Amino acid sequence: MQPPERLTVPTCIGCWSMRLLADCESDCAEQKLELVHAAAYDELVQEATEAQALLAALAEAERRLAEAPAELGEPAYLAAQAIARAALRAHPARTAEETADGEPPRVRTAWWCPECGSVEASEECLGICVWQPLQWVNLSVHREFEQQVTGQRERVAQARALLAQLAHTTPRPGHWEESLALIRAQAGALLADG
Ligand SMILES: [Zn+2]
Ligand SMILES: [Zn+2]
Repeated sequence: MQPPERLTVPTCIGCWSMRLLADCESDCAEQKLELVHAAAYDELVQEATEAQALLAALAEAERRLAEAPAELGEPAYLAAQAIARAALRAHPARTAEETADGEPPRVRTAWWCPECGSVEASEECLGICVWQPLQWVNLSVHREFEQQVTGQRERVAQARALLAQLAHTTPRPGHWEESLALIRAQAGALLADG
């Protein structure tokens, strides 16, 4: 059996013991399994989705600007501006959120049996364990995805800044082409970089 990528494990909300029992004929083989709380992974998924949407909006805006003949600079700019505004409305910048008390620990080390798939991590509970099914993700899967997401963070921030510039700046009359060319060049460079 391969180590699970994502799994639901009954977890005590007091001491964070984990116990997913299966039945091996004899004793379970124990293999270290590092898990991250699925909420942390899902945040990354959300960030990746957002990044994709922002980059796609920038590409679409750039396309509108690129396709416009010189005399249609104004409508092309306004169309690109509408795209930028819609993208920023749909994906507002995040504010840093504090981790609330009582949140599950981000990372847990458990013991996993490759034969039957049982998962265990024992802690001493002060009271009686209260079990709740919690979702966990394999730490190596999380780390790999995290690297991918953080690797493009800088680029996505630049894309967001460029969209904001497009959304909030309306050129003075007679300067449509100039602004259009400038944004196109910046967007083009950023998109080609990926
Ligand atoms: Zn087992
Ligand atoms: Zn407990």
